[in-house]
Amino acid sequence: MPYVVTQSCCSDASCVVACPVNCIHPAPGEPDFATAEMLYIDPAGCVDCGACATACPVDAIKPHTLLTAAEQPFLGLNAEYYQVFPHADRTPVAVVPPQRRLRSDRPVRVAVVGAGPAGLYAADELLKHPEVSVDVLDRLPTPHGLVRAGVAPDHQHTKQTQRLFAQVEELPGFRYLLGVEVGRDVTRAELDERYDAVVWTVGASADKPLRVPGEDLPGSLSATEVVGWYNGHPDHQDLAVDLSSATGRVVVVGNGNVALDVARVMTLDPQLLRGTDVAGLPWTVLAQSAVREVVVLGRRGPAQAAFTLPELVGLVGLVEQGLLDVVVDLGGEPLPADTPVGRMLALLPGYDAGVPVDPARRRVVLRFLAQPVAVLGETRVEAVEVERTRLVAGADGAVRAEGTGETELLECGLVLRAVGYHGREVTDLPYDPATGTVPSDHGRVEPGTYVAGWVKRGPSGFIGTNKSCAQETVDRLLDDLDAGTTSPPTRDADDLPALLASRGVTVLDLADWRAIDAEERRRGAASGRVRAKIVDREEMLRVAVAARRGPARPERGRARYSSGPRVRSPR
Ligand code: NAP
Repeated sequence: MPYVVTQSCCSDASCVVACPVNCIHPAPGEPDFATAEMLYIDPAGCVDCGACATACPVDAIKPHTLLTAAEQPFLGLNAEYYQVFPHADRTPVAVVPPQRRLRSDRPVRVAVVGAGPAGLYAADELLKHPEVSVDVLDRLPTPHGLVRAGVAPDHQHTKQTQRLFAQVEELPGFRYLLGVEVGRDVTRAELDERYDAVVWTVGASADKPLRVPGEDLPGSLSATEVVGWYNGHPDHQDLAVDLSSATGRVVVVGNGNVALDVARVMTLDPQLLRGTDVAGLPWTVLAQSAVREVVVLGRRGPAQAAFTLPELVGLVGLVEQGLLDVVVDLGGEPLPADTPVGRMLALLPGYDAGVPVDPARRRVVLRFLAQPVAVLGETRVEAVEVERTRLVAGADGAVRAEGTGETELLECGLVLRAVGYHGREVTDLPYDPATGTVPSDHGRVEPGTYVAGWVKRGPSGFIGTNKSCAQETVDRLLDDLDAGTTSPPTRDADDLPALLASRGVTVLDLADWRAIDAEERRRGAASGRVRAKIVDREEMLRVAVAARRGPARPERGRARYSSGPRVRSPR
């Protein structure tokens, strides 16, 4: 009875280390790990011990007998991988991974800027060293970055990485400084003089422009903002998401996982989202939505689609359960029937302009070889001018989309631009505008300054990809500590809360976050939901400050070497 990796695989590779027979690949360090869409278990090698399922933070691994009908394709996908990549060596990776030790035992303090997955995986790596304590700063009063505000609400399995992050937060030496914006409330120089090293894990928060006329019309929104909106990100709660257009149609531009996420959220029965952590007001807008059809425009073909196979399998699973309809418009090209993506798409009906949308179900149209050339409307979006494309191979072998000049108008009330994230410039750090990243050598910007996550490698991979990314960065940081090339702090970081308070910043710590978390869960439980997110910063602060006045709070995440008085003053 082999175990099987399924849709929510986050690629953090905990399972790889846990496997006693080394039958989960690609493993970190193997050539295809960086580009793999998920990890795979070799059914011929699996000894059915379940260690991988126990290690998996997102419950993505199951015995094959427990797969649902919608998950059945993963059985074949796991096995097929080994037909191409046999990975014959079955020597366990390591029952206990080797633990590096620092040469000196002097106390080391590290600041991590950004409390998303990359930041917390970096903190986890650093805190394996008893000499190290870590302060994690974030501009929001709540941590967990895109796991809280980016992962789609119907993907609650993926959000389970928050359980792992909660364990990291409990490690001795861990401290949060939440609600602190570096560059506004405190400068990079002020961090540098207080810490042996600063690791920047600030992600890629901007979105790429489409560069077509009309993209700034009201009703043309970036999908990254819309994802933040329905996920309760405080920055996006005022976003005008109008789902009332009489056209009943939304056009999503882009063919990645974000495009599939927003298309699903816009078409699923809102009752299926009700029990999730979708934000309250957006849920009401979704529940009253007039949307009947979401057209996803991919400028290239299915073989080049940026969405991953596990997400496509998940979408087809929803169709098989009768939860929504998905039709495929190949733009006249044949289906790549010999590929796993082609085989999944072959399970879906082809688009037929004559077939109306089923009144009982909304539908997604996956339309390939089509790109927008203009967003049209008098005062707001009314249509998209869509151009058919053809594929051309460049001299470098890359397959590009080229416009054919053949266009049509697609009426719609909303355009969502899901063409990828882009990193913003980070105050006082070098910046490569082409990639939106901070240039680094495997995470080292210079001794004492490091990057991990999307700000280092660009917006790619999955939640767990940040684990190996952070490990690589922390390795460089430890190298520099051992080599003595970092500058020891000249000031005590324990004065930071007081400094910030003197600037009117209310700094939230772990207990404050726990109070917000508990309140959200309490409110959610009262209405049969996972949590009811608090979306307003001031309310988050009120909830945290009120909890401070309650019964004595357990002291957690205490700094290893000194705690100092925590001074707080509400703004
Ligand atoms: P992405 O994977 O880079 O996809 C961007 C898409 O936009 C591509 O299809 C790209 O087409 C298209 N595009 C770019 N510029 C365009 C233009 N000017 N006109 C038309 N189309 C254009 O970006 P993403 O979807 O934002 O995802 C970012 C990362 O987050 C990815 O690693 C993704 O896997 C991850 N993510 C994962 C999940 C999940 O696991 N469930 C969910 C969300 C995000 P070309 O390929 O032709 O350039």
